[in-house]
Amino acid sequence: MAFSKQLAIIYPNREFGGIYSLGPLILFNIVNKIPGWRCSRQYLDSNNLKGINLIGFTMQYELDFYNFEKILLKNNISLEKSRKEIIFAGGPCVNTNTKPMENYIDFFILGNVENVISSVLELYTNNKDEFLKNISKIKGVYIPGLNKKIDNFDIDLDKIEYPILQPFPDRITEEFVFGRVFMLEIERGCPFACKFCLMKKFYDKVHYRSLDNIKQIIDQGVKINKVNKIIIYSPSFTHPKRKEILKYILSKGLEFSVPSLKVEYVDKELLELIKNGGQKTLTVAPECNELLRKSIGKDISDEIFFKFIDYANFYNFKKIKYYMMIGLPEQTEKDLGELVDFIELSKKRFKGELYVSINPFVPKPGMQFENHIFDKKLIKKQLMFLKKHLKVKFKVANINLSHKEWLLANSSDFRQI
Ligand code: SF4
Repeated sequence: MAFSKQLAIIYPNREFGGIYSLGPLILFNIVNKIPGWRCSRQYLDSNNLKGINLIGFTMQYELDFYNFEKILLKNNISLEKSRKEIIFAGGPCVNTNTKPMENYIDFFILGNVENVISSVLELYTNNKDEFLKNISKIKGVYIPGLNKKIDNFDIDLDKIEYPILQPFPDRITEEFVFGRVFMLEIERGCPFACKFCLMKKFYDKVHYRSLDNIKQIIDQGVKINKVNKIIIYSPSFTHPKRKEILKYILSKGLEFSVPSLKVEYVDKELLELIKNGGQKTLTVAPECNELLRKSIGKDISDEIFFKFIDYANFYNFKKIKYYMMIGLPEQTEKDLGELVDFIELSKKRFKGELYVSINPFVPKPGMQFENHIFDKKLIKKQLMFLKKHLKVKFKVANINLSHKEWLLANSSDFRQI
């Protein structure tokens, strides 16, 4: 079959990470079913944009703006919009703020791409010359200077097509951390409203996929892709049928991996299911000490984390990952001292390995804490405090890069940063 038109969806980072991204898979599945269109997934380390009609970028985080530039340069495509190629972007980082990329992107797809893409392609096919003007009427398509942003975050997950086909390259290295798996998205949005998170800006309510639909997706997905492991995608894993979902996966003889857990949603039965699914490491995000945790919108006591550790010990989990933040609004030395105590107590209590990751908080437009200043000097001082007092080994994100991420997120043009 001859394809007259091509769309490339680019994950502007390495393939071993991008292969697990759901956004490109959604486009890949929808576009390849539209007669006359072909869609390819491309990456920072594997791209060829010759002959592509529509070039899409899925922007995950701000530092990838530079990779966007690299990819265009490598393909001899101008950053200026006067070029002949049409470039669009979507993904969490442009949903947050389109400004830094507006000078270089012809149109943005904001919110749920499933609601939009078929109409966009139809209008391209019908009239290439008037294309941008015509798509400016579609809700969720934003063309800087031509129309206004209209929210496109409402969706019924049971009514949209699931990206069942999830191909992997023939040869994968161990950098592909999950191996060959099937990605299962069970919910979009989150019922919580942590002040340092953007989720609430996008989805004011949680969209849960129904259990029946999830079961069908699992059946088809593992059969078509010939895999025996499922990775569950969800921002906070609060699906009311989460145990039933895990039980169903187990009944099929499959392994699975769950995302970061909300400890207050964990009981022994859930951990037993996770253990039986083959997962050895549990990930949670206490973020900071108990008092500050409450004021940033996560009202969970240290005691609940300790109870979680007891359950993890009971089922002999080998590793717990803690994600913590510094540079939070009003985070004092007293808070850091309590954070040290909390981590030390957790370490003593857990029989396995406690992995601690310390990350600077990066305020972004749309968060409740959006106006907080990223104070590099203060963050470095906080880090010194932790290095001095915390006996448990920890990993730290690169503060200079986090600072750059903050500057980019709040900029009006990423090339000026
Ligand atoms: S940090 Fe997690 S729990 Fe809090 S709002 Fe964001 S996704 Fe939800």
